[in-house]
Amino acid sequence: MSDAQAFAPLVQELDRWRADGRSATFWWRDDDACVDSPALSRLLSLAARYRVPVAIAAIPAAVESSLVSAIGACECALVVQHGYAHRNHAASGARSAELAEDRAADATLAELARGRRTLAAAFGDRFATILVPPWNRIADHLLPHLRDEGYAGLSRFGPRASPFAAPGVPEVNTHVDPIAWRRGRAFVGIATAVARIVAHLHGRREKSCDAGEPTGLLTHHLAFGDDAFAFVDALLDVIARHDAARWLDPRDAFVLRELTCARCA
Ligand SMILES: [Zn+2]
Repeated sequence: MSDAQAFAPLVQELDRWRADGRSATFWWRDDDACVDSPALSRLLSLAARYRVPVAIAAIPAAVESSLVSAIGACECALVVQHGYAHRNHAASGARSAELAEDRAADATLAELARGRRTLAAAFGDRFATILVPPWNRIADHLLPHLRDEGYAGLSRFGPRASPFAAPGVPEVNTHVDPIAWRRGRAFVGIATAVARIVAHLHGRREKSCDAGEPTGLLTHHLAFGDDAFAFVDALLDVIARHDAARWLDPRDAFVLRELTCARCA
């Protein structure tokens, strides 16, 4: 199957958005950055070539100066916070989580604050205070603290249940991860990856999920081989060429206002 055939379902779905007079919004998050590497430069050069902003979820405790230089050299890259050390604190038998249910909130929040200060000092205004929980999991009891801790947003995986994870904390998730983690971290293939994008777009168009949540591409540069990078390249090309599709700057994706009554405010 050629690339054009493999992407045809996406082009058809975008044509339906155009017919409805709407524009399909996308955003891009890449996880697990610590240091510069050939894989990271490959990802950042794709972002630069297509002028698409990418949120780089960096692990504060593991950030090295080479990452700071790499981000500084790429105007399309913005840094967000990927937990603190990407360490699993879940109880044995439970699914992996750093921001785990079984850990005291004080200890978790203190680490997150340390990580936030590290990233702010290293990346300055290229750092946005968006929290990306490692393994996309965060204990419910932490959510009400996020606004006071200074977070402007939360990003997990899958269609969001609500535009806000907690009062004042917009949630914008990712929906398409082209890696099969339990099958040797292989690329799922273009047809499957395209089908996942189309499924989320279709859900938004038919309102079976939140139509206002942009479709999030989740990449992991360290797990990507040539096939996964080629898919992202082709996807960026398809979206660039379609007039009913556009990428959002991650900062804009998280700008949401709580609905308040003007008379009560
Ligand atoms: Zn991660």
